[in-house]
Amino acid sequence: MPAKFKCTILGSGDTIGTPIAGCKCATCLDPKSKRYRFGLLLEIDTLKILIDPNPDLKWQCLSADLELKDIDHIFVTHHHSDHINGLGEFFFRNPKPQVLWYGDNPLNHKLIDYWKYLEAEQVLEFRTFSNFKEIKLNDDLTVLPIELSHDFPTSGFIFKYRNKKIAVVTDTNGKLKRQTIDSLKNVNVLFADTFSENQEQIKKVYTDCGISTPDLGTEWFHMTIDDVKDLKAKINAKRVYTVHMSRHMDTQENLVKKYQTDDFVIGYDSLSFDLLK
Ligand SMILES: [Zn+2]
Ligand SMILES: [Zn+2]
Repeated sequence: MPAKFKCTILGSGDTIGTPIAGCKCATCLDPKSKRYRFGLLLEIDTLKILIDPNPDLKWQCLSADLELKDIDHIFVTHHHSDHINGLGEFFFRNPKPQVLWYGDNPLNHKLIDYWKYLEAEQVLEFRTFSNFKEIKLNDDLTVLPIELSHDFPTSGFIFKYRNKKIAVVTDTNGKLKRQTIDSLKNVNVLFADTFSENQEQIKKVYTDCGISTPDLGTEWFHMTIDDVKDLKAKINAKRVYTVHMSRHMDTQENLVKKYQTDDFVIGYDSLSFDLLK
């Protein structure tokens, strides 16, 4: 089998996805701005790897012609509902072990308990990872979990296959610790949490709900376009794909016009490429 390192964005959306029922904003009304909750499929060599079994997984499988039984490894960034609540789609026993990886911390252990019936029924095998401790999936492929900065214990991942590296960095703000920044240096591709274009859009999230705006310097846990550009420069990422995007942002077409360049790509559902081609 020829080497491959294929990445497919299954979902590019935020916690509640786009559109939301009843909303009449231009983004929610635009079919091209439709976004499933965040999910990423990596097909590396002979392995299929899913990052974040999100609540839209069933529909993502139908779009990508992906059978859940073919997935070898599932990595969970964190246990907010938009990243874990599709786990119930894994339902049938599979002769091949399918491994669910989750971060080794007390909060995750507590929350993962709910899903342990899947292990008891031999649907999935559960394994923990620790940040900055490399996992070897085969002779050519390693995964490094890295610590992110969210209102919840959250990990990003760096997948290294032969001489190529891709990083998944959601959900997080831009205030990353030194070890995380150092680990991310020179990745070929960065999938980056990009919740909004600017801080004004974040403030709107709060004012829309009638709550006072928090101090965004300390209390906000996602990135803006500028935060992602800063991170890209800091780590010298060769190319960025934005993900975890909210309906507060402009339409897909306008975002492309405003921000897209050869090495800064506005993500969308079903976007797919092979790093080795
Ligand atoms: Zn999220
Ligand atoms: Zn989250």
